[in-house]
Amino acid sequence: MPRAERGLLQLRRLKDLIARLSERVPLYREKLRAAGVTPGDIRSLADLARLPFTVKDDFRQTYPYGLLAVRMEEVIRVHASSGTTGKPTVVAYTRQDVDTWSEVMARTLMAGGVGRGDVVHNAYGYGLFTGGLGFHYGAERVGAAVVPMSGGFTDRQLMALRDLGATVLCCTPSYALHLAEAAEEAGLVRGLKLRVGFFGAEPWTEAMRGALETRLNIMALNIYGLSEVIGPGVSVECLERRGMHVAEDHFLPEIVDPRTLEPLPPGATGELVFTTLTKEAMPLLRYRTRDLTTLDAGPCRCGRTLVRIGRITGRTDDMLIIRGVNVYPSQIEHALLQVPDVEPHYLLVLRRDSTLDTLEVQVEARAAIAGAGRDALAALGTIVRRKIHEVVGLTADVSVVPPKTIERSLGKAKRVLDLRHGGS
Ligand code: AMP
Ligand code: ZN
Repeated sequence: MPRAERGLLQLRRLKDLIARLSERVPLYREKLRAAGVTPGDIRSLADLARLPFTVKDDFRQTYPYGLLAVRMEEVIRVHASSGTTGKPTVVAYTRQDVDTWSEVMARTLMAGGVGRGDVVHNAYGYGLFTGGLGFHYGAERVGAAVVPMSGGFTDRQLMALRDLGATVLCCTPSYALHLAEAAEEAGLVRGLKLRVGFFGAEPWTEAMRGALETRLNIMALNIYGLSEVIGPGVSVECLERRGMHVAEDHFLPEIVDPRTLEPLPPGATGELVFTTLTKEAMPLLRYRTRDLTTLDAGPCRCGRTLVRIGRITGRTDDMLIIRGVNVYPSQIEHALLQVPDVEPHYLLVLRRDSTLDTLEVQVEARAAIAGAGRDALAALGTIVRRKIHEVVGLTADVSVVPPKTIERSLGKAKRVLDLRHGGS
């Protein structure tokens, strides 16, 4: 679609969105009122800059369904992502939303030439995380055969990859590297028919792309998405692999200065912001992703006119991604506060053990039980580990240390020691 024509489509959809939000979602009615914007004020896409932002905390304030723009009877699916404390960020879909999602996921897979006859090995997690079902519906939509593996159980994954003739691999890049290593050890790589892989949900590098392509003999494509916007399907690389084309007819991207929140010119690095143009159940206005990147509206050799986002180079908040799971230090703190015998003095140590990330949580025992002996401290460690797993969904190595051994800082507490380097 030519850019000018798409611009008109986006504008029409944006006007419709503002009308729906001000009519049906109290939080947006209030935000729009505070910004002094009425639906009639939107005359061009440049007026986007006058609209209020949405942040993750808006989900927390309205948990679980306060951002719904339809009646609950219209909702057919719910997913969730990490919240900053104990409660997750809940997102909902109407039948039309699931259809839109399948459509953008079909485009994602087609960008790598996937279609009938392909066997899609889907090792993204099924469940509340959007990765598994997003790829599942997209693969069905393009007529491929889906193997719904979900994550983990590497030996079983290897057997399925080989025996079922997978041609397409979908998982996080770090897990793909782990699979590659395990396949090499088992002498399986030559028996694989893999052709292309769709990797995302966590930051990765060109060095890692090179490693995946050589070791698995595939084309490795970067995908980017987030639950709040729809899940995977927001953007994908074409075979040129110079940035990820955004499904702009559904998700309108902007780059803003994270401090001033002013829109930045094309090419500048800043925070990525999305407005959902067609979503029905939980449409969002200028959602601040907290991801840092650039936008490139220049022509692409593949012929697509859709704008491209570059690699995600960082975050404007303290969210960590560990084995594809989003983790906020505040969530760990929330878990620790629920265990009576430890103090909320803690340090998160991240390491890369061969290919997979590990998380060590060092936490101080309460003075009263510090002398209780090693067994008691080990038992306490087990309780903490279970609690963290319950709250965050991730297994951590827990070290319960004596009181006052974790360094106190004078200013902002240093809670994270990230020893993973460069992502490769
Ligand atoms: P979730 O909503 O749980 O799917 O997590 C979305 C977040 O995962 C994004 O905001 C990014 O921080 C991260 N993410 C997703 N895809 C990528 C990618 N290709 N590169 C870097 N980070 C990514
Ligand atoms: Zn392209």
